[in-house]
Amino acid sequence: MMYYDKLIFDLSTPERKGYSLPNYDIPEHKINPGLCREDDLLLPEVSELETLRHYTNVSFKNFGIEKGFYPLGSCTMKYNPKINQDISNLPAFHLHPYQPIKSVQGNLEIYYETQRILSELSGLDEFTLNPYAGAHGELVGLMIMKKYHHDRGDFKRTKVIVPDSAHGTNPASAAVAGFDIIEVKSNVDGTVHIEDLETVLSDEIAGIMLTNPNTVGIFEKDILEISRLVHEAGGLLYYDGANLNPILGVARPGDMGFDIMHINLHKTFSTPHGGGGPGSGPVGVKEFLRPYLPKPVVVKTVNGFDIEMDNDTTIGQISHFYGNFGVVIKAYTYLLTVGKEHFEYVGKLSVLNANYIKESLKDVYELPIESVCKHEFVFNGLRDKTQHVTTLDIAKRLLDYDVHPPTIYFPLVIKEALMIEPPETESKQTVDHFINVMRTVAEEARTNPELVKGAPYTTVVKRLDEAKAARQPIVKYRDLL
Ligand SMILES: *Cc1c(COP(=O)(O)O)cnc(C)c1O
Repeated sequence: MMYYDKLIFDLSTPERKGYSLPNYDIPEHKINPGLCREDDLLLPEVSELETLRHYTNVSFKNFGIEKGFYPLGSCTMKYNPKINQDISNLPAFHLHPYQPIKSVQGNLEIYYETQRILSELSGLDEFTLNPYAGAHGELVGLMIMKKYHHDRGDFKRTKVIVPDSAHGTNPASAAVAGFDIIEVKSNVDGTVHIEDLETVLSDEIAGIMLTNPNTVGIFEKDILEISRLVHEAGGLLYYDGANLNPILGVARPGDMGFDIMHINLHKTFSTPHGGGGPGSGPVGVKEFLRPYLPKPVVVKTVNGFDIEMDNDTTIGQISHFYGNFGVVIKAYTYLLTVGKEHFEYVGKLSVLNANYIKESLKDVYELPIESVCKHEFVFNGLRDKTQHVTTLDIAKRLLDYDVHPPTIYFPLVIKEALMIEPPETESKQTVDHFINVMRTVAEEARTNPELVKGAPYTTVVKRLDEAKAARQPIVKYRDLL
């Protein structure tokens, strides 16, 4: 172990400080003793340089998109150009939310323009940038769906349809929004089973939540038929657009018949994610649902940009002020750098990368769905299962080759699922390297299965007892003592 890899508390020397503060010149203020802690706070006593070295070393132990290939399915991990962050850090964007509207016209223009661009890319007429994340966007979208039905005096619609292959947040959001969930079965390729859908449609259905391409990367070719059926039954269509990569610049949810959708700026539109945010989950709606958008709404008037607060049809306020504006600036920078005429390449190249990998590996990995995929696809472990090398073993072994594992054991409908999504930001050389690594691991599984089952060997922590790690995590230095 490197010296500075130690726990920071183990680098501690009594009385050493990593800061220098001027003597204070304000009157002392007595704090109610009942509010004060009794024992001293245990803090590492380290210099600035020791702290810097420690965290720099620790950062190398993590795996991120800037360290290697990260083909995580159902969660686009694409490169986020540094300029996005640089722009959002400009002092002009460090504002107070109560600043007079007249003094923030440029910022409101960026906000408004981002809404317009998302509308154009998605085919939904109006957007709100207030929600903080994808799941938050789903909740907002479902609240809009509910308010729409209630405003028409229709209180019977208490159920939302969710396919069994959906992302877990979909049924969770529907439940939080107060709906009952009806699960419909998928076909083997994850597409909606139309006959099954028809049997559950009724005047109690508020809507359906779908994503297209679906969770296994297959485009729902019957989407117009599904849209017709649900609309005829009086329901609305909700689109989970967390991962918009596969259709960017090529197809639009609005044209497929969807009425409401959310987008994850922190997946498709180039904001780093993982580790808990900050994120942004804009929600788009068709024109007839515009009155229900959450407030505040940024609008364009003859006198410039304004913020609308008092609208009595809105679902209300769902975030502090205007959401995560910093994330919006990053997305706006990304949208302008890619440019309208190039968005189709995001869609086409991510689809090309996925199909290239799928076709290059299907002789050694089992491909349960033989069809052209969109941005991602799923293998069902190795074709040759005689050595009992599992998807988990393969995922762990990839770490030894500096490749982040794909999503594993999701979706649940595929037992040994390895869900691979190579975004458009990866070159052919990187993708070829990944294919070689996957073939090497398959070969190892055949000739030396114990090697794969014991992996990883090169990482800081080796094979973990995952149940113990989840049930008895050590999160405090004191627990180690
Ligand atoms: C990531 C994701 C979500 C949820 O987004 P969060 O920002 O993590 O709340 C919803 N649906 C799909 C398909 C996703 O991939």
